[in-house]
Amino acid sequence: MQYKMLIDGHWVEARGGGSRAVIDPATESVITSVPFGDGRDAYAAIDAAARAQPAWAQMTAYERGALLLRAAYLIRERIETLAPIMTRECGKPLNEARGEWNAAADLFEWFAEEGKRAYGRVIPARRSHKRLLVLKEAVGVVATITAWNFPAYLPARKWSAALAAGCTVVGKPSEITPMSAMALVNLLVEAGIPAGVMNLVNGKAEDIGQAFLQSPLVNKISFTGSQRVGQILMRGAADGIKKLALELGGSAPVLIFDDVDVESAAEQAVAAKFRNNGQVCISPARFYAQRGIFEEFLEATRARIAALKLGSGLEAGVTTGPLVTAEGRERVESFVADAQTKGANVVIGGSRPQALGRGFFYQPTLLTNVNPTMRISCDEVFGPVMPVSPFETLADGLRQANATPFGLAGYAMTNNVKTAVRVYEGLKFGIVGVNDLVPATAEGPFGGIKESGFGSEGAAEGLLEYLNTKFVSMGM
Ligand code: NAD
Repeated sequence: MQYKMLIDGHWVEARGGGSRAVIDPATESVITSVPFGDGRDAYAAIDAAARAQPAWAQMTAYERGALLLRAAYLIRERIETLAPIMTRECGKPLNEARGEWNAAADLFEWFAEEGKRAYGRVIPARRSHKRLLVLKEAVGVVATITAWNFPAYLPARKWSAALAAGCTVVGKPSEITPMSAMALVNLLVEAGIPAGVMNLVNGKAEDIGQAFLQSPLVNKISFTGSQRVGQILMRGAADGIKKLALELGGSAPVLIFDDVDVESAAEQAVAAKFRNNGQVCISPARFYAQRGIFEEFLEATRARIAALKLGSGLEAGVTTGPLVTAEGRERVESFVADAQTKGANVVIGGSRPQALGRGFFYQPTLLTNVNPTMRISCDEVFGPVMPVSPFETLADGLRQANATPFGLAGYAMTNNVKTAVRVYEGLKFGIVGVNDLVPATAEGPFGGIKESGFGSEGAAEGLLEYLNTKFVSMGM
């Protein structure tokens, strides 16, 4: 495995000689050191991608698809090597890491097929001497910037679709978790990706971001990360009228109606909330239980949280790893302190675990008496804190659920079909899960509305993100 940058088919160090340590958040020790470059590396990678793009686009979708399928096969074959790399750099338990790699393989497999369906149209013309055609053509060079919380799945969601469409790629992983992305690129090289088609740069985010924004050779930037950086990119994209896709944060509500099986609802809620320690953009973040089951749901949830096992994700039986960085943990602590100051009760958790001296651990935490003035109610905590509040009626639940600027994912649990319909119609989010708190899948479109961004990943919509529409009008 090469833990380096890939530029024009070569594994390289940073041009400026820089390197950066990758830290294991469970032990706070250095795993390895990787090249850490800047704008110069980005420009070299962009040039390589631009040179390689015409030939890649001219290959048939079947040829590109065969290569992507090989990549999917290699991911599945190497899963026991790949999973610990991910667990060590981002802390998620091995089972979750295996699941993420499998989901990345699903994406390559799915887009290997979907690339063959980049259909155009023939439009019946209003004049007999005209012929009207719609063609779908690859956007060109795509730059991707991704977050650390799904260090293989997030790049895979962009790369699989872009490559299938005939685009070439310059990827920039999070500097916190570059190893999984590097491992994924290793497999693409092994699968036979031509030089320059897939490039990877790691380094100073601002510099590389500016190179992506300023180079006229970059036709689109696809970003997954925070609102803050999304806004920087959106402002910067204005000069070159650069195409953008922004997959930003969320604060997903869950409405639990009083017709559900409370034990089962609590089990699903705790599993989804504490997946990757709450560091998931579509993670259920605000829980609203209908008044009639509120106390029962709270107790069922408390009991399940008490049974979670905190520790290194490499250890058998561990359900919950550390937060990814010291700053991530401080953010969680500040949210809990803010809530407590404003009157919230900590039912369980609420501090660092005594038993784990090293590592960025924080106890899975349950809060009640939460109100809308608290940061936990209106901002993204990105950590293991579960606030539970009551709601009265469907209308009251929807009002509370929709009351943030975010629009990524919203959820409901109910056995009543009319409630289910009203709720999926009433939730103002790009993704709605009804009795499903884990809705992301390769064949479904994933993306937010409102301040959670724009653009879709996965599904037929995900391929369209990397295709331009060309209208041809031919006189006869
Ligand atoms: P972040 O915005 O800090 O970083 C994301 C990426 O942007 C990293 O690669 C980082 O190096 C890069 N970056 C930082 N500053 C930059 C700049 N000035 N120019 C260009 N690039 C820059 O986010 P994070 O902390 O890595 O991830 C957490 C956030 O990502 C959360 O808000 C989460 O909700 C969001 N997220 C969204 C989705 C989604 O699909 N909607 C998925 C996962 C995570």
